[in-house]
Amino acid sequence: MSVQRTIRVRLKPTTEQRRVLLETLAESTACFNAVAVYGWEHQERNGVELHKATYYPLRAEHPRLPSQLVVSARTRANEALKSALTRKRQGRRTGCPTGSMVPIRYDARSYRLIGQTASLASVDGRQVIPFAANPHATVLLERAAGTDSADLILKNGKLWLHVVLTLPDVPFTDAGIAIGVDLGLTRPAVTSEAHFLGQKRWREIDRRSFRLKRSLQSKGTASARRHLRKLAGKVARFRRDCDHVLSKRIVQSVSPGTTVVVENLTDIRTRAKQRGRASRRRLHSWSFAQMRAFLEYKAEAAGCRVAGVDPRHTSQRCHVCGHIERGNRDGARFRCRSCGQQGNADLIAARNIRDRHLVGWASGPAGGLSVKEPIVGDAVESQHVSTYKPPALAGGT
Ligand SMILES: [Zn+2]
Repeated sequence: MSVQRTIRVRLKPTTEQRRVLLETLAESTACFNAVAVYGWEHQERNGVELHKATYYPLRAEHPRLPSQLVVSARTRANEALKSALTRKRQGRRTGCPTGSMVPIRYDARSYRLIGQTASLASVDGRQVIPFAANPHATVLLERAAGTDSADLILKNGKLWLHVVLTLPDVPFTDAGIAIGVDLGLTRPAVTSEAHFLGQKRWREIDRRSFRLKRSLQSKGTASARRHLRKLAGKVARFRRDCDHVLSKRIVQSVSPGTTVVVENLTDIRTRAKQRGRASRRRLHSWSFAQMRAFLEYKAEAAGCRVAGVDPRHTSQRCHVCGHIERGNRDGARFRCRSCGQQGNADLIAARNIRDRHLVGWASGPAGGLSVKEPIVGDAVESQHVSTYKPPALAGGT
């Protein structure tokens, strides 16, 4: 079995190539919409029937659009029609699924990646276009055993190719080891092995851009709005970089066959709710899903796996006696009100996360089993963390 991953690369067409690709997108969109309108009017969701009704008229109408792209537009319109017609049958809000610039799905016959270029079928023959890929995408491209489909997308005026890669599978051989990871609020990540990963100042940088965002929002001028858009892109890139570094460090800190255990959070926001207004605000939109996705593919590539556990009470439970009480935790410090056990609160949370996976303690007051081990002071800082410098956010307050 192999694994599939989607990477995003940005095309760097010449002015002429850009014009050709935009024209190709426009013609493909016209085909998509024609099929969607026909299918919607005739309540037709069958691909063969849609083909019979639309293929030749569309070929005649768009003679320069390669036949594979006409077929591809129909296939995509067919998918959209199926879900729209299903929604309609269920009495949900829906309409004819047309679009203004529908992505083109390329397949093995209509595109190829050669080195750092993409060769794409278009209304003006094959276009060979260089692309830029970020470091993570480049690594995956090098590892890939092959490519599957690719979507050509116009977003914010730029042309992107979302390429599905087939990656060779690294088998997971369970070594019976589990480590818990707390995506803490005092440190970006703390493992149950007492590795403190990521930099504290990431949060300060993030908070600074949050304040900048607020002040720009309150201005409301055209120039402030322009700055806001730029800032949003910078914040997203910064967080993505942090998530990449953090997931890499976590995987580097474990050996193959390890199960990396994290909390099943849809958003760190859920967790921050327990810990006061300020933390809630500054973590408002820091996506947990992205972090988990990065962690999963990096873990898989290293012969590890990721497991999730119920997040309830992981930060309030004493991992030694099982006593659960909100008052056990005071910010970054933990002191058990029942047995007096003390330590770094994120480290104790990480051990609870691991133990919940290993022995499945209940979140009720009974506590349950636990893997006993002492908390030694505030333990080692990771050797790796000091080398990473996050990209600076421009502006400042
Ligand atoms: Zn205790």
